Amino acid sequence: MKIGIVGSGMVGSAAAYAMALRGSASEIVLVDRNADLASAHAQDISHAVPFADPMVVRAGDYADLAGAGIVVISAGVNQQPGETRLALLGRNAAVFREVVGALMKVVPDAIYLVASNPVDLMTYAVQRFSGLPTERVIGSGTILDTARFRVLLGDYLGIAPSSVHAYVLGEHGDSEVAVWSSAMAGNVPIAEFATQTGQHLTDEKRSEITDAVRNAAYTIISGKGSTYYGIGAGLARIVEAIAGDERAVLSVSTVTEEVEGVNAVPLSLPRIVGAKGIMAELRPDLDEGERAALRKSAETIAGLKGAIDS
Ligand code: ADP
Repeated sequence: MKIGIVGSGMVGSAAAYAMALRGSASEIVLVDRNADLASAHAQDISHAVPFADPMVVRAGDYADLAGAGIVVISAGVNQQPGETRLALLGRNAAVFREVVGALMKVVPDAIYLVASNPVDLMTYAVQRFSGLPTERVIGSGTILDTARFRVLLGDYLGIAPSSVHAYVLGEHGDSEVAVWSSAMAGNVPIAEFATQTGQHLTDEKRSEITDAVRNAAYTIISGKGSTYYGIGAGLARIVEAIAGDERAVLSVSTVTEEVEGVNAVPLSLPRIVGAKGIMAELRPDLDEGERAALRKSAETIAGLKGAIDS
């Protein structure tokens, strides 16, 4: 499948690199307002192709995206140290109005995969500005927070993150909800697994892990300016689920009809992702605290939609 990437900065290029190494696509076209940057990344990444499966990696402009099955939007301005993702909203909405307008003229039939932050609201913006059905406008959402949660839980419990079945839902940001109540190690509830293996999953430990997941981006940004490898791999994973019609369950964002009494809100739930984009959503059992936290997260995001509607 041909993949377009609009915004070939750190996140866009990391996504292209992950796709090249994983063989997620047959062709990748990098577009950026800075054409030299897109061209340099395309050349650099294409030099990794001989070490992976054959594919074409090139730079282009909007016209070169014709025929793309998926367009990743990772354009925008960078999150500054200490800046919340939500504070980025105003700056990125203006960029998106222009980008989506240009894309609709060339690739109205693609599935859109949004990565720019604040990602839930930028997903809402793409859906609003494009008028596309919600199942074809997917935000990377909490795919990365879910990965971070699994890494930290796996590290603590001494098992592979891929054997931890646990999700972060809601906003990709400060109000996100790590769902502990249904987290499993293999098919054993994690609290039970910890007891069986003589470990202690105390409330303090849980809070420590939840906080580390929530603050991961801030920690990385203070050390190296921005985060891109993790999200790049997450974007490649979503692309594969669509290109291969995998029907994989991934925590991704889209405009959701109703969540905990909040209507038309973009946020992450576990969703089935395949050739048509989002094919269904899962509604996990949540305990009372998690439900309240998810409602608060939904309300937080919904309260900012006005900045895009106006
Ligand atoms: P991130 O870490 O989120 O990837 P970067 O600043 O590295 O942030 O990348 C964002 C990219 O988006 C930059 O390369 C920038 O040139 C690009 N960009 C910004 N506005 C537009 C636009 N209107 N069209 C295409 N690319 C854009």
